[in-house]
Amino acid sequence: MEKLPEYDTIIIGAGPAGLFAAACINRGRTLILEKKEKPGRKLMISGSGQCNFTNSGPVSGFSTHYGNNYGFMKPALETFTNHHAVNWFEKRGIKTITDKNGKIFPASLKASDILNTLLKAASEQNARLMTGLAVQSARVEGGMFLVETADRRFTSVNLILGTGGLSYPSTGSTGDGYSFAKSLGHSIVSPKPALTPVFIKGFEYDDLAGVSLKNAQIMLFRDKREIGSHPGDIVFTHKGLSGPGILDFSRFFEAGDTLKINLCNLQPQEFERQFTEAASENGKTLLSTFLRNAGLTRSLLRIVAEKSGVNPEKPLAEISKQARKALTEQACSHSFIIEKTAGYKTAMATAGGVSLTEVDPLTMESKLVENLYFAGEILDIDGDTGGYNIQAAFSTAWMAAQAINRKQ
Ligand SMILES: Cc1cc2nc3c(=O)[nH]c(=O)nc-3n(C[C@H](O)[C@H](O)[C@H](O)COP(=O)(O)OP(=O)(O)OC[C@H]3O[C@@H](n4cnc5c(N)ncnc54)[C@H](O)[C@@H]3O)c2cc1C
Repeated sequence: MEKLPEYDTIIIGAGPAGLFAAACINRGRTLILEKKEKPGRKLMISGSGQCNFTNSGPVSGFSTHYGNNYGFMKPALETFTNHHAVNWFEKRGIKTITDKNGKIFPASLKASDILNTLLKAASEQNARLMTGLAVQSARVEGGMFLVETADRRFTSVNLILGTGGLSYPSTGSTGDGYSFAKSLGHSIVSPKPALTPVFIKGFEYDDLAGVSLKNAQIMLFRDKREIGSHPGDIVFTHKGLSGPGILDFSRFFEAGDTLKINLCNLQPQEFERQFTEAASENGKTLLSTFLRNAGLTRSLLRIVAEKSGVNPEKPLAEISKQARKALTEQACSHSFIIEKTAGYKTAMATAGGVSLTEVDPLTMESKLVENLYFAGEILDIDGDTGGYNIQAAFSTAWMAAQAINRKQ
């Protein structure tokens, strides 16, 4: 006699994507398999334990927060929006708060409130959660999915891969899902750390650690060609650069790239114009005063002057045209060569993952294997800081769950 699958849906991974999918699947028997002893380990440390689960910006504004892959995310983000996410939790008793940057948190500032709500909602849908079980393989056999751990086998009609990426491997995200997807015929876009600080080659500025720049213009150069630019806040660290502007841009960084950063608040032409004007109107103005007025902190102006070979206490009238050019470059496009990004132990997200060309953006179903779905960071999706990654996990999980609900 033909064997029937034990479960309608198996979800591998109890992160926000897997748990939210389980909470939204309203038919059939669902099993969630999680390799860690406890679910949602990464969710628990998100937003420094406070869980910034989405952002209050307009839905249309989300388009700039997923690098080059927003096109795929658009239907999901417009179907299950940030407002839906907030309402979903508020309906379940979780009050939310929004900070000045639009980041939305549970009002308790406890990630555990988000996790417990997800777990309760999944259990209300009768989803079964088994923890401490690492899936080793997933394949199609006899017209159903066969999912194996070291000593157990489970079968299902549908399979959702919600195993996350590679960042913070201690939370359980070690890229296992990529090999399951590969074995099922999918291509993987080479993963790399995203939302990561960078180490700078020959970094001479460790005494600046903690100094920050507001909304600085960051330009990225590879082989002397500009390949992108991004505005954002920067923080100097002991070995390089961090801050939201660097983290959000880091998905594009490669070792050996050059970052050119505007350290002041003037564009190069305006810097030169104001310099020339100040030198002719009051040539006795000291370089340090001019640089301070251009928005440079005391420590940065010292570096800009030193790198240009000019004493900061020199009057503007005595500064040559050549030195002025050097000052403009050092102040408005200061170069930093990337030695490396900080790696998966520190990166908060993974760029790359299951290739989006092989997944239907309206259902998150594989275009190659019927009834196979993907949700969350396993996909070639990585969002900026500010709640965009957990929102992506929820939106993609919602699309997969609704597709499964419609089918059965
Ligand atoms: C320090 C830190 C802070 C962050 N803060 C924020 C924030 O404030 N806001 C935000 O939007 N994003 C934040 N992120 C990113 C966000 O947490 C992730 O994008 C999100 O958790 C991804 O959800 P996911 O469900 O796809 O994957 P994950 O959360 O990684 O969950 C995947 C689950 O799958 C399990 N798993 C993996 N392999 C197997 C296997 N073989 N068998 C069984 N189970 C398996 C893992 O153990 C894990 O529990 C942060 C990330 C980090 C590291």
